[in-house]
Amino acid sequence: MKEKKYDYLIVGAGLFGSVFAHEMTKRGKKCIVIDKRKHLGGNVYCEEKEGINIHKYGAHIFHTNDKKIWDYVNQFADFNNYINSPLSLSKGKLYNLPFNMNTFYQLWGTKTPEEAKKIINEQIAEYGFKSPKNLEEQALSLVGKDIYETFIKSYTEKQWGKKATELPSFIIKRLPVRFTYNNNYFNDMYQGIPVGGYNTIIDGLLSGIETKTSVDFFEDRISLESLADKVVYTGKIDEFFDYKHGQLEYRSLRFEHELHTIENYQGNAVVNYNDASYAFTRIIEHKHFEFGKQNKTIITKEYPENWNRKKEAYYPINNDRNQSIFKKYKEESKLSKDVIFGGRLAEYRYYDMHQIIASSLTKVEEILKIERQ
Ligand code: FAD
Repeated sequence: MKEKKYDYLIVGAGLFGSVFAHEMTKRGKKCIVIDKRKHLGGNVYCEEKEGINIHKYGAHIFHTNDKKIWDYVNQFADFNNYINSPLSLSKGKLYNLPFNMNTFYQLWGTKTPEEAKKIINEQIAEYGFKSPKNLEEQALSLVGKDIYETFIKSYTEKQWGKKATELPSFIIKRLPVRFTYNNNYFNDMYQGIPVGGYNTIIDGLLSGIETKTSVDFFEDRISLESLADKVVYTGKIDEFFDYKHGQLEYRSLRFEHELHTIENYQGNAVVNYNDASYAFTRIIEHKHFEFGKQNKTIITKEYPENWNRKKEAYYPINNDRNQSIFKKYKEESKLSKDVIFGGRLAEYRYYDMHQIIASSLTKVEEILKIERQ
């Protein structure tokens, strides 16, 4: 049989595909990476304007507890010491997030953990439910009325486009409250933004590897598949199987970017807008991720939207319907011996960046182990 030109055709130049390509190339395999977008990087791609890296597909903050993953990304970029400390605007007042002693002081004037705990516990006792039947009941049972009404109700309703009483309780499994004055959104040991933006990491991962952008796998599937022994597919799993078991649903986002000729728009990278009177859920001011000193600034308003096939798929909707459809695709994917499925769209799962990198590295190890047998 005629030898194929590549060992791997990698569909999707996001973090999963780029890590896979990097690791396999390092081991002497020949890879080609294609992406239907005009650029590499998938959802971590940054577009530079006015010297500011704009997080094109939503704010991305790298965080992990895994030293191995931290060391891995640090091979490709230095990270700054950005700590995510979002603010939340509710009924004209700004609060610190995540819910911590600063938030409770701003909300109730409480100064000690005991005072704050007392209020939360009293409200849980008064408004909570033994078996919460929807998101509203779940949130009231976890944090009580004030936190729910100030920070959760309208924000979540905008996010999902549905009333909190119509949303399933499992969307909110936990609502961590912190009884220290600590505004660091993440609990992880390592956190930061790559100096020069995320493209630096993608450029490092894909250095020396053949890549093609603006190439949709499905527009030329047969000839693309014939190029390589194996395909690594990181697109939507239902699309791969031509939607034969039904279409998986997502929530989408629309981003409106604005250039302002002032140095500093909101003084923080992330400000959540809770109230229903704003259609967007948050404003991102990108320069603050990298402590920018430019005399202009770029902000992005993030509007949650219903999804259809023409829009970007951002968040999987993990209800029973979608999970049972996904299971069928997953079963079928096991029969496609020459295709490796990976990444957030092929696994129909929300993953953070560090988790995607770990899952790509694991997949490479699994394949190499089988090859060695
Ligand atoms: P993607 O980056 O989506 O890459 C898949 C690629 O496949 C895309 O480029 C797509 O164009 C391409 N593709 C699909 N179909 C085809 C086709 N038919 N032909 C060719 N190419 C195709 N994680 C964090 O750790 N911290 C954060 O702060 C954070 N913020 C986030 C904010 C938002 C709004 C969202 C949605 C996600 C966030 N994440 C964050 C998660 C992070 O974006 C993902 O973990 C990561 O980008 C997933 O990488 P991936 O390679 O699986 O997918």
